[in-house]
Amino acid sequence: MVTLGETMALMRSAVVGSLAHLPGLDVAVGGAESNLAIGLRRLGVPTAWISRVGDDPLGERVMREILAEGVEVHCAIDPSRPTGLMLKSRPTATTTRVDYYRAGSAASALSPADLPDGLIEQARVLHLSGITPLLSRSAHTTMLAAVQRAVAAGTTVSLDVNHRARLGGRDELARLLGEVLEYVDLLVGGPEELAALAPGVVEDDHRGLLTTLAREGRQVVLKRGADGAAALADGELHEAPAHRVAVLDTVGAGDAFVAGYLSAQLEGLDVAARLARANACGALACTTPGDWEGAPRPAELEALLAGEAADPV
Ligand code: ATP
Repeated sequence: MVTLGETMALMRSAVVGSLAHLPGLDVAVGGAESNLAIGLRRLGVPTAWISRVGDDPLGERVMREILAEGVEVHCAIDPSRPTGLMLKSRPTATTTRVDYYRAGSAASALSPADLPDGLIEQARVLHLSGITPLLSRSAHTTMLAAVQRAVAAGTTVSLDVNHRARLGGRDELARLLGEVLEYVDLLVGGPEELAALAPGVVEDDHRGLLTTLAREGRQVVLKRGADGAAALADGELHEAPAHRVAVLDTVGAGDAFVAGYLSAQLEGLDVAARLARANACGALACTTPGDWEGAPRPAELEALLAGEAADPV
């Protein structure tokens, strides 16, 4: 699986308080596409990630973390732009605040020249997110070029809508994704995200969203958070409940979910088994802090399923 997108340095606070007063922050990294690449790699799928970072210690940190997870890294180092940065704090015990410093980042300058020759052509899956086209015009062009190459080579195209409102509105995202939607073989999103791509269908009408966006040969998958997930494939609707887990941090659940779904698909499992694994991965990602650190390995997945079989809820 090949993916491309921005990964930022992530500075986060474990304690409650405003950034105006906190004495310290932990350093980590995070980005939807690299989170997914790590999640898939942990499940045994060879993965590659294409991006750019600045010529700075945070860029080195980003590359080192992703490489250390066994993901193949194709990352240009840009001396003229910084690595993007995300600050996560907890102003109160029940609220999380995220501040981005990513405008003009190295990854926002992604261009088709950053796509290595042959990589997309040799992959079984190209995975994209709706974050990339909102980063910049050149990042948007890169996404289009990547899809063109995938389509020409017969590589499956997977897209997680992943709308980031700070980067752009729903209508703008729908317009940009509309340019590639016809080539998408696996479309994943939450109700609000799929509704942005299905004009006239309200986000509460899950069946309507799935049927409106389905095409021959395309699977549409709806992430429903604590309510699990649904998928429409080959005209058949599948629904699967979420696992009951002690939730600590839901960020990254969606990326782990897609990693689970894609890994099962690449193993040739049917849609019900893909959804079951995806829900298990999403649930496990909720049980640990961090955007990707909780993405499970096969043994952790088995332990969750075995525990539930022994103690059904
Ligand atoms: P994020 O952007 O925060 O990574 P998302 O909004 O893309 O997440 P969600 O729908 O929140 O995606 O979660 C993805 C999947 O993770 C769900 O479909 C479900 O399988 C699992 N999940 C999420 N929240 C919970 C929860 N509270 N309990 C159990 N499973 C959950």
